[in-house]
Amino acid sequence: MLENLSERLQGIFSGLRSKGRLTEDDINDAMREIRLALLEADVNFKVVKAFVKRTKERCLTADVLDSLTPAQNVIKIVLDELTELLGRTDSKLVLGSRIPNVIMLVGLQGSGKTTAAAKLAYRLMQESHAPLLVACDVYRPAAADQLQTLGDEIGARVYRGDGRDPVAIAREGVQDAIDSLRDVVIIDTAGRLHVDDDMMAEARAIRDAVRPDQILMVVDAMTGQDVVNVVEAFAAEVDFDGVIMSKMDGDARGGGALSIREVTGKPIKFISSGEKPDSLEEFHPDRMAKRILGMGDVVSLIESAVRVQQAEEEAVEAERMAKGNLTLDDFVTMNRQIRKMGGVSKLVSALPGGDKALGSGQVDEGALDAMEVIINSMTKEERARPEVLNGSRRARIAAGAGVTVTEVNQLIKKFNETKKMMRKMTAGIEQQAGKKGKR
Ligand code: GDP
Repeated sequence: MLENLSERLQGIFSGLRSKGRLTEDDINDAMREIRLALLEADVNFKVVKAFVKRTKERCLTADVLDSLTPAQNVIKIVLDELTELLGRTDSKLVLGSRIPNVIMLVGLQGSGKTTAAAKLAYRLMQESHAPLLVACDVYRPAAADQLQTLGDEIGARVYRGDGRDPVAIAREGVQDAIDSLRDVVIIDTAGRLHVDDDMMAEARAIRDAVRPDQILMVVDAMTGQDVVNVVEAFAAEVDFDGVIMSKMDGDARGGGALSIREVTGKPIKFISSGEKPDSLEEFHPDRMAKRILGMGDVVSLIESAVRVQQAEEEAVEAERMAKGNLTLDDFVTMNRQIRKMGGVSKLVSALPGGDKALGSGQVDEGALDAMEVIINSMTKEERARPEVLNGSRRARIAAGAGVTVTEVNQLIKKFNETKKMMRKMTAGIEQQAGKKGKR
């Protein structure tokens, strides 16, 4: 995808480099060629016009023409403008503090929604989230099965309901996430082959029923010129927060990806370039612009290698912790994660009956800091094997942390209770999953 454009642009640049000093005519010729290359890549003509105008104006200044390395300056300006076109700043997927957080996917049939739902779930699982996939496409018979298969493949729970009413399934899905302690719900909705009133009405009804924290539109990068119209229709009818651009690995021209932000103002959040669950990447305008101009994107490559390694390590750790083989270091990590997820009070109140359990008194999050100070005063061995903490060790730790021995004792008691609770919870969830799981 975009390789042809990339090659064309690089050809234009090497032509400029070979010239040494540049005249106004040289710049005009180069801009004409850039314009053609963009149009041939299916970039929206309005976008092309505005892009070339801006770039040309900047290139025709005395600073560029009279400089000793004019070609380098032109390339820098094109890179800048291309980054601007793609959105300039990264638009990360930021989960809100509501638990479960609800993400809804919309888009045309075949755009890659169902696969994107699984890819997103896979990505969130690598970031220590527990997503639930909800199958609301009740029209395409194989859609729910497809989501189930993908969910099984990555180990994510799938809710598919029994009914034929997508709004009810979405609502039940959110409840299922609460019951099964999932913190993110990803709703896969039905699409049609073309923009159509029923599809929009249904998407709006689901949206109004579950009030998603994020709506993402999945767009097939191979859609061509029409992509802008489709995105604009969804923006007007349902509205959404960002785009997942799928099939970036295809051999089509892919100019849609370059047009969306400028024409619709909607940011691209992810790009997908394959059918496998790990083929979803965060979209970084600057890196993409560099990739198009043949400047390489080493950063993304390194990041994906690191992610795979982390995921493998985390899976091993999670299994050990789920078995209740907790260490005090895990205890600190867990507490930090709880805080990242929006604090203890929010987490507890999101659980069934949690509001009651919490009562009027909020959980003291300051106590979490105090706990970390105590654990920091322990040796590596003590944190890994808390059973060695005898009286004299406890006294030493208390002195080191500036607390009383009673406080150290309380912490160890709490730790032991958590360990027990985790063993019970794991057993409970496994039992429940076995009972209600795959319908
Ligand atoms: P939906 O109808 O919007 O749910 O679309 P699907 O998720 O079923 O995707 C339609 C087809 O596109 C499936 O065969 C997917 O495997 C394929 N697909 C989705 N995303 C990508 C991608 O990024 N690259 C490639 N090559 N194929 C994709």
